[in-house]
Amino acid sequence: MIHPLLPNQLQKTQETMRMAAEFILRPISRKYDKAEHEPPVEMEQLNQAAAAQKKDSEIGDDSVKSMDLGGRNLWAVISLEQMCWGDVGLFLARPGTGLGNAAIMAVGDNEQKAKWGKRWAAMAITEPGAGSDSKNISTTAVLDGDEWVLDGEKIYVTDGDRCDCVVVWATLNKSMGKTAIRSFLVEKGTPGFSVARLEKKLGIRASDTATLIFDNCRIPRENLLGGKEEIETDINAAKKSFGGAMQTFDNTRPMVAGMAIGLGQAALDMTRALLAEEGYEQNYGGSMHHQTAIQSELEMLEAELEAARLLVYKSAWMMDNKMPNSKEASMGKAKAGRIGNKISLKCVEICSMQGFSEDHLLEKFSRDSKILDIFEGTQQIQQLIVARQVLGKSSQDLK
Ligand SMILES: Cc1cc2nc3c(=O)[nH]c(=O)nc-3n(C[C@H](O)[C@H](O)[C@H](O)COP(=O)(O)OP(=O)(O)OC[C@H]3O[C@@H](n4cnc5c(N)ncnc54)[C@H](O)[C@@H]3O)c2cc1C
Repeated sequence: MIHPLLPNQLQKTQETMRMAAEFILRPISRKYDKAEHEPPVEMEQLNQAAAAQKKDSEIGDDSVKSMDLGGRNLWAVISLEQMCWGDVGLFLARPGTGLGNAAIMAVGDNEQKAKWGKRWAAMAITEPGAGSDSKNISTTAVLDGDEWVLDGEKIYVTDGDRCDCVVVWATLNKSMGKTAIRSFLVEKGTPGFSVARLEKKLGIRASDTATLIFDNCRIPRENLLGGKEEIETDINAAKKSFGGAMQTFDNTRPMVAGMAIGLGQAALDMTRALLAEEGYEQNYGGSMHHQTAIQSELEMLEAELEAARLLVYKSAWMMDNKMPNSKEASMGKAKAGRIGNKISLKCVEICSMQGFSEDHLLEKFSRDSKILDIFEGTQQIQQLIVARQVLGKSSQDLK
């Protein structure tokens, strides 16, 4: 459905992306769920559709002039919501931009954005000893002449195998904690950088998830995103420095939340279609007393999904308008991740045999949905961040 609150340009984006999702992604959804780790060759068509949308993506760039219009972030959320209505795994597998690109746009300088902004960039934060607690990473970056030397292991990196480059979080000095964490751009093919293995997964099987090894991996000095080489000892400057790295999440969380909304909408649409085949039609105008239990359940889910959607659009719009959006980004991610899980499982339940069968995609939606409430910060971590902001507590006060 075209969203009435969006400006015309974004409504057009929504329409085009939905068509691409329906006619390019959906027909190959099951094929690549089964053929895990096989690159989806049909995705080239999608790139052409995305190129046709290029104009729309430029509407706000980084300098939105009008507060009524969204910029690059809102455009991205709307595009990927529609794409993920088609298929989340395939969306993540498309040759194009990844979560690392959002990181480049959040912390890179103008030169870095121009150089790498349009390459396919994965994002590597998680390590065997650091998941939710991302400030605990052990991958090191040491300056040697005009090169950084990276050493460490990153796990569960989405697009880690197929991407062109990876944004890698590393510490300049582990004993200095989070203030010493920086992100670096490492190109595929750099000596010392290798893909160790691919994961087999519950959902989003069309996308690759890789373990990456950095062993004496030397990259140019200018590949430090944002270019901040010195570690601040002053507490306020240090907070700002880590805040810079964390800004990545303010940018990427609305994106992941948008994916959850697209998936939730897909599950509801498919459920309605299956119910209609059985002769159940939704009666929106009628009194609650005349609704079946299933009808009222579906309406509740729709209302929750719309609440999440509006929250997520707001968090992206704030980013476009250079407003601090950490709280809203986490609220949107928590709400959308949770409701995406709830809707997709409820839809399996409502359609029961058809929901559970591989004849339809509902069972797949429920498997794909779980990751959207895990990566870029789990449900519990988003709630923690929101609680800190609402209560005015630091990460030391509330762990
Ligand atoms: C398919 C897939 C793709 C991924 N893609 C990427 C990627 O592209 N890049 C990347 O860097 N990472 C990626 N990840 C990793 C993902 O971000 C982490 O799995 C996630 O951050 C959670 O970390 P963890 O698995 O170590 O769980 P843990 O941090 O060990 O958490 C385990 C459980 O404890 C809860 N918990 C932890 N701390 C607290 C707390 N303080 N309060 C309350 N509850 C808490 C968590 O919510 C969770 O439920 C991916 C993971 C998967 C499964």
